[in-house]
Amino acid sequence: MKLMVLGSGQDGGVPHTGCYCSACIRARRHKRRRRLAPSVALCNDKAGSCYLIDASPDFKFQMDMIWNHIPHVKRVGKIPVSSILLTHAHYGHITGLLELGKEVLNEIGIPVFCTPAMGQFLSASPPFSHLVEGGNIEIREIRPGVKTELGGISVTPTQVPHRNETADTVGYIIEATRRVIYIPDIDRWTDETLEEISRSDTAIIDGTFYSAAELPGYRDVPHPPIKETVELLEGASTEIYFTHINHTNAINRRGRERRTIERLGFKIAYDGLTLDI
Ligand SMILES: [Zn+2]
Ligand SMILES: [Zn+2]
Ligand SMILES: [Zn+2]
Repeated sequence: MKLMVLGSGQDGGVPHTGCYCSACIRARRHKRRRRLAPSVALCNDKAGSCYLIDASPDFKFQMDMIWNHIPHVKRVGKIPVSSILLTHAHYGHITGLLELGKEVLNEIGIPVFCTPAMGQFLSASPPFSHLVEGGNIEIREIRPGVKTELGGISVTPTQVPHRNETADTVGYIIEATRRVIYIPDIDRWTDETLEEISRSDTAIIDGTFYSAAELPGYRDVPHPPIKETVELLEGASTEIYFTHINHTNAINRRGRERRTIERLGFKIAYDGLTLDI
């Protein structure tokens, strides 16, 4: 069983539209410095089936990553993905669903697993509601704390605090040979989430900002800064990767900040990172 990080960037990715900071300039010049919008694939490489967590605006490139890197993957409709699981309703996590509609793929009945609140949001809000009405996607409700089996992998959504303007937000606990937790977006760490991270073999977690000082509008879009997260999780036996990395984050360059967290044993996700799970 494999987990592939298809996008290690924050919703707007790196480079960020309209930004010419050094990380964005470097990412425009060198493809390997780019970070696509957040998404991961869970692939049963024996059965050839893949499940996607979040459908990002970089969906088309991420489908190519699956075709190119997972051998013998099965086509389901026109994509290499059997179903899609959603974390929450922000731009970088759901707009790729629109590729499944009439304007692009016109898929039939792709299962979309999400919480009841997310399901209601999608069913009631155009243009996503057109996908439900047109039968391109089928909403399958899953509840936080309740396990769902998906061809050799079990997934359990876990509720996390985040800006929930339209629905709610979950991370996922993924159990195959290893126990992995994926939380791309959270406003602050809670005792429950820290406990879940410590209980997991691998954690791929919100590393949007290195420091709360790097973005003037930080208060409107809070995420736990890496600087503080490493203090909370130092000494955990879990293998920890930071993902959902913003273009402003100092760990985009090889400098003091990156060296500091790597010395402490933390890792930084990148697009194409593939883990045996
Ligand atoms: Zn996000
Ligand atoms: Zn930038
Ligand atoms: Zn978000």
